[in-house]
Amino acid sequence: MISDDIINTVIDAVDSEELIKLTSDLVKINSVWDPVAGTSEQPAAEYVFKWTREQGFEAIMEEVAPGRPNVIVSWPAGAGNRKLMFEGHTDVVTAGDESVWQYDPFAAEIVGRRMYGRGTNDTKGNLAAMLIAMAALKRCGIKLSGTIIGGVLCDEEDQMLGVRDFITSGHADTITGAVICEPQDGLICTTQKGALRARFTIAGRMSHGAMPLSGLNTAPAVAKLISALHELEYKAVNHPGRDEHLGWPSFTPTVIQAPASGVPQLNVMPGEARILVDIRTIPGQSHPDIISDLEAMAVEIEQQVRQDYLEFDKLLELERNHDLRVQVEILTDRPCTLTDQKDPVVLAADWATRQLTDEVPTYAGVPGATDGTFLWALKNIPIVTMGAGDRQVPHQVDEWVDLDQLVETAKIYALTALHYLDPDPVQPENKKI
Ligand SMILES: [Zn+2]
Repeated sequence: MISDDIINTVIDAVDSEELIKLTSDLVKINSVWDPVAGTSEQPAAEYVFKWTREQGFEAIMEEVAPGRPNVIVSWPAGAGNRKLMFEGHTDVVTAGDESVWQYDPFAAEIVGRRMYGRGTNDTKGNLAAMLIAMAALKRCGIKLSGTIIGGVLCDEEDQMLGVRDFITSGHADTITGAVICEPQDGLICTTQKGALRARFTIAGRMSHGAMPLSGLNTAPAVAKLISALHELEYKAVNHPGRDEHLGWPSFTPTVIQAPASGVPQLNVMPGEARILVDIRTIPGQSHPDIISDLEAMAVEIEQQVRQDYLEFDKLLELERNHDLRVQVEILTDRPCTLTDQKDPVVLAADWATRQLTDEVPTYAGVPGATDGTFLWALKNIPIVTMGAGDRQVPHQVDEWVDLDQLVETAKIYALTALHYLDPDPVQPENKKI
């Protein structure tokens, strides 16, 4: 049972000025991964490393790729097997054209109760909140049972090298639950969409537009592939249907290119075409099954189009090679995630949110992948994704975060850890949640 005294002690230990200063310092460090401009996560990681050591935490820096370190902060808060990870990334996406920003993207300007700048929302504010939460718990000297790990990782926005390295180095092996600190506007997210990206390449033969019969057009195969993708989407919309938190699954041909490379010209029939497909999945869909469907689709459509050409050419009394090829490659395969709402990490997040907001928490899903995807998929770690910041704002011009929500988030993180590592938990049958 956690007393009101303890709850208030922890909440009071979260210093809002310190949180705003830490967020501001992190935002002012340009940590866009840009080898041409010479910027990387390195200075942000060094800052966090130094800050956490000053707070008395153990911290190590591990280089994942040149100039791209992870910082792993650990605090053995007490005896016990539970190990809670807070995860936040140091990289931010590019500011793009800075002239269209109203605020300097790396100045952390505060106007009213908003802080503006790249990463305020995604996710330096939440990274600062998790570090302040850890520091607050440590300072108030409350008895806890277990360990807290701060995973301050690089490259979340691109290949997720940071979390992959964290896992392959063995750091995730004993983690029992993780809070993924990302802008979810106070929602508790227990599920995330999966992503499967594929490239179809259709090879025919180039020819003059006036003499198409001397070549082999790829367009009929492109049309059939697009229709077949729509059929797969239709099937998925029927089953598994709409996910309560994540919405509909989708199979979207995003890029349709012919020629696959070079300059398109109206009087030239291209020899090669390309379709890029962005598939977003929900629980109930199987990635291996979808991959088999895509592979079967490539084989069937290749055969169908060859057959169509054969019959058409009979009509034209024409002889030509029907060696059309359709191939598919999988470019990305990130599964969807689903954590049981009765898992202790979700119960802790739920309890903490109720304490702070006096409201019933809203559950939701994350539309994209995060570092949590890999912790869940590769190490079976229950994850909950939550944090401050409007969900539409990441990667936009004039990115911002509401400072009051950020302070509340730091308190929610601290209480989540307090509940998860409670040395004297209420037995489930007596639990009043
Ligand atoms: Zn993020």
